[in-house]
Amino acid sequence: MSPTYTLAEGCPYPQNTTSVQLRNGSGGGLVLLQDTQLIETLAHFARERIPERVVHAKAAGAYGEFECTDDCTDITSASFLNTIGKKTKVLLRISTVGPERGSADTTRDVHGWAMKLYTDEGNLDWVFNNTPVFFVRDPIKFPSLNRSHKRHPQTNKPDSNMFWDFHVGSPEGIHELFHLFSDRGTPASLRHMNAYSGHTYKFTKEDNSFSYIKVHIKTQIGVKNLTRQEAVKLAGEDPDYLVDDLFQAIKKGNYPVWNVFVQVMSPEQAETYKWNIFDMTKVWPHSDFPLRQIGRLTMNRNPQNYFTDIEQAAFSPSNMVPGWAPSADPMLQARMFSYPDAARYRLGVNYQQLPTNRASVPVYCPFERDGLMNFSDNYGADPNYVGSTLHPTTFKTAKQGQTMSTLTEHEKWAGEVSSFTTEFGPQDFEQAAGLWAVLGRDPGHQDRFIGNIADHLSSVTHLRLRARVYGKWRFLFASYICACVDTGLINYSLELFSHVDKDLGARIEKATEALIA
Ligand code: NDP
Repeated sequence: MSPTYTLAEGCPYPQNTTSVQLRNGSGGGLVLLQDTQLIETLAHFARERIPERVVHAKAAGAYGEFECTDDCTDITSASFLNTIGKKTKVLLRISTVGPERGSADTTRDVHGWAMKLYTDEGNLDWVFNNTPVFFVRDPIKFPSLNRSHKRHPQTNKPDSNMFWDFHVGSPEGIHELFHLFSDRGTPASLRHMNAYSGHTYKFTKEDNSFSYIKVHIKTQIGVKNLTRQEAVKLAGEDPDYLVDDLFQAIKKGNYPVWNVFVQVMSPEQAETYKWNIFDMTKVWPHSDFPLRQIGRLTMNRNPQNYFTDIEQAAFSPSNMVPGWAPSADPMLQARMFSYPDAARYRLGVNYQQLPTNRASVPVYCPFERDGLMNFSDNYGADPNYVGSTLHPTTFKTAKQGQTMSTLTEHEKWAGEVSSFTTEFGPQDFEQAAGLWAVLGRDPGHQDRFIGNIADHLSSVTHLRLRARVYGKWRFLFASYICACVDTGLINYSLELFSHVDKDLGARIEKATEALIA
C-alpha cells in the first residue's frame, strides 16, 4: 500500500508542492508566515548536513558476517571466537583518509577499514587501515600529520610542500610512505584490498592470561591495484569508482570475502623482541610470527540508506568485548579517547542509540541519561546513580557485568610515567628497506614507486626541501653540521630516501628533476 504524505508531526499534508501566498492576480505573491510547512521544509534543508568527519570522510559501506573458522579458545575467551562456524553480523566502512566526502576515491591515500562486529557480548570495533603500519607513533603528531595531507591554510589546495616538509621532519613514517607510494596506494577495488590492525592488541582469557596480537585481513581474490595513470584518469571520469564497484558487486551477489588472521606473541617474547611492539610504524615479520587464521568475512548486503547506515555509523577502537583488550601502544590509547570524542561532536552525546550503532544485545547503562536527542525510554524510573558492589541501590538491582581484563601485571614492564619525545635512528629505515626489497620481487614495481614519488614531489617548489627528501648530501652539508653540533647525533630528519637504499635518493632525484625541467 502506498504511504500517505503527512507533516513531520503526522498531520495530513494534502498539497506538498504549494505554499500559502497572498495572490497577485493569476501569479503568486507574498508568502505568509503562517505557511509554517514551507518554513519547516526550508529550515530542515538548511540543517541536513552533519559535520563531515575531519578524516575518513569519503567512504563505501556494507553489511555482512564474520564467521569463526578455527579454534581460538587457547588464546582468547571472546565469545564471537569461541565456536567454529559461529557467525556475527558486521558493518564495514572503507574510506580514504585525507580528502573530503565528495572527493575522488581513487586518489592515492591510505584507506581506512572501520568495522563493527555486533557480537553477543556487545559491539567490538576494528578501526584498521589497508596498511600494516602508520606515519607516526606519537599521538601528539596526529593532527599535524593530517593537516599536512590536507589543504593549505592560504591557498585552500592540497600542498606537496606541506606534505613533504612534515615527512622529512618525521622520518619514523618512512615505512608507511613506502606503502603509500607503492601500487597499494591506489587499489583497483575495495574488494582487492587487505587490511591490518596496525596496532598491537591483546587477546585475553578468563584466567587473566593474555597474548599480544596483530590482525591481518586478506582478500580472497588477491591484491590488485591501479597504476597512477589509471587512478588519475578515473578520479576525473568517475570519482565514485570504488564506492560503486563495491555496491554493484554486492548487488549482483558477487560477495567479497576476506580471510582473517592473527599474529600471536607471548608477553615474554615481547620483552626481548627486536622491535618495540607498541610502535605503530613497525610490523612483526611473518617469519618471526606466522599468520594464524581465526575467521572469514563476507560482505553480502548493501546499506538501505547511506546516511542512517554509514554516515551515522561511529566506530572506536575503545569498543571492546571480553577477550579483546588494548595494548600500551600510545597511538591506540589516544585513539580510544579521540574516536568517541569525534562521534559526540559529530552525532551528539547519544550516538550509541542510533540504529546503526546500537548493540544487538540488551543495553542497560542507566548512568548515561538524558542529553540531546535521547530517543530511548531513558531507563524510566530506574536509579540514575550508582551503588557499590557491596551496597547496591535499594530500588533496582542489576547484575554486575563480566570483568574486562584490560590491564594486567605485565603492564608494569612497559615502563614508568615520564614525558617522551620520539627519537629516530637507523632502525626506523630497516623495515622500509625490507619493503623496498619486497617491491623488487614484482617486476617494474620499484620503477612505478619512483614514478609515483616523483609525480608528487615535482610540485614541491623549495629546492632545499626536495633535497632533504632525496637525502642529497651537498645541499644538506650545512644543516647536517648544525644538527650534529646541536644534538651530537646524525639527524635522520635531514635525509629520507637515501637512508633506505643508497641509490634510491638519486633515482628519485633524477625522475623528479626531469619532470620539473
Ligand atoms: P615477507 O617477506 O614474509 O612477505 C612480504 C609481505 O609483503 C607479503 O606477505 C605481503 O603482505 C607484503 N607485500 C607484498 N607486496 C606489497 C606491496 N606492494 N606493498 C605492501 N606490502 C606488500 O614479509 P615480512 O613480514 O618479512 O616483511 C617485509 C616487508 O613486507 C615489511 O617491511 C612490510 O613493509 C611488508 N609487509 C609486512 C607485513 C607484516 O605484517 N609482516 C604485512 C604487509 C606488508 P600481505 O600478504 O599482507 O599482502
